[in-house]
Amino acid sequence: MKILVVDDNNTDRLVMNTYLLRMGYEVVLGGNGLQAVELYKENQPDLVVMDVNMPEMNGYDAAQKIRQISDEWIPIIFLSARIGSEDIVKGIEAGGDDYLVKPIDHQVLEAKMKAMQRIAEMRHKLVEMAFELKQANAELKQLVNIDGLTGLFNRRYLDDFLVREVARSKRYQQSLTVILCDIDYFKVFNDTYGHLEGDDCLRGVSAILKNSCRRPTDLVARYGGEEFAIILSDMDSEAAVIMAETIREAIEAEQIPHKKSLVSQVVTMSLGVCSLIPEHGDTPETFLQKADVALYQAKQAGRNQVKMNA
Ligand code: GH3
Ligand code: MG
Ligand code: MG
Repeated sequence: MKILVVDDNNTDRLVMNTYLLRMGYEVVLGGNGLQAVELYKENQPDLVVMDVNMPEMNGYDAAQKIRQISDEWIPIIFLSARIGSEDIVKGIEAGGDDYLVKPIDHQVLEAKMKAMQRIAEMRHKLVEMAFELKQANAELKQLVNIDGLTGLFNRRYLDDFLVREVARSKRYQQSLTVILCDIDYFKVFNDTYGHLEGDDCLRGVSAILKNSCRRPTDLVARYGGEEFAIILSDMDSEAAVIMAETIREAIEAEQIPHKKSLVSQVVTMSLGVCSLIPEHGDTPETFLQKADVALYQAKQAGRNQVKMNA
């Protein structure tokens, strides 16, 4: 425990210092209220033991200052030769917690320090717990937006993101692209290779999608079972189709075996693209529906291809 001892009387200060050092505490010494405030800021003690009557700034004023600058409650014990009920009221109102009568009784001091040590330990634990809680909360907040299987953003995050992006694109009259991607004959894949292989395949496809969309503003999300959504801000339809085609090729090039697929010997993907500058009545659903229609057309046209719905 680190104790800040403040007293203008040299002898009193040294006696207190000797006692506390002997008890095994770390001590910082100050000679008046102004110093108390400065030393408090510099040293972050666990306890302040402070004389009341001091030049420059008295103990009460110093206590008030300390309470103002600190969001933590560190115990302050006042030292005084004579203590009446008025002093006690004044001390507590200034932000003090207890009094010690001068001359200091060694036994009383030792007992009080033990009590303060307990408080300091509890406070340290609390600070630690608050820190851990804050970290856990941040992690949870992150997890709420992440799909457990693929590590991509989930549908919930996608929905929020898309609301913001549609509004932004409307405001700046920029083209916004939504691509919906769906693995071809994935049910057959599961039936052929098993569900665990299916999960591996989803992870592999996710990694390729993420790798393909590298601008900091790009978003890749798991939209449903084996469906993914990609949002590309400030990208027009021509660039979007090229992008979708690149993704389609990358999936095919990965050569994940899919011997029962009716379009290929490897895993393939169909993609539906919607790319437009949103007008007044356009909503996130406009983009998702149009991309979905395009995806349906890609499936109808034979799968493993890109269709556009502007
Ligand atoms: P299409 O080419 O028309 O898209 O056919 P499909 O078989 O891919 O489409 P369908 O929607 O009939 O089947 C999707 C399959 O995806 C069915 C479901 O079991 C599987 N699936 C969905 N989520 C998961 C998952 O998390 N893991 C695994 N392994 N399979 C999943
Ligand atoms: Mg599907
Ligand atoms: Mg499918």
